[in-house]
Amino acid sequence: MYAWYGTNEYNFEKLPNPPAFEPTYCSKCKERIILPDGGYSDLCGVYRCDNCPITENEREEIIREYKNKHGDK
Ligand SMILES: [Zn+2]
Repeated sequence: MYAWYGTNEYNFEKLPNPPAFEPTYCSKCKERIILPDGGYSDLCGVYRCDNCPITENEREEIIREYKNKHGDK
């Protein structure tokens, strides 16, 4: 939301580096993930950096939580 303030008509100052997308963080170590750079895993909206690969157990857990949130149709 705050990104709008850089471009509205009341403030013509451009932000130095307007974010093109929401920052994404590794769900385990909280390291910021730069999506276009690759080097991450994405499962059901859960992102992991290269250092924190999703294990088989975690994969099942993530999918289970995803289904709880979004319904299993
Ligand atoms: Zn990580």
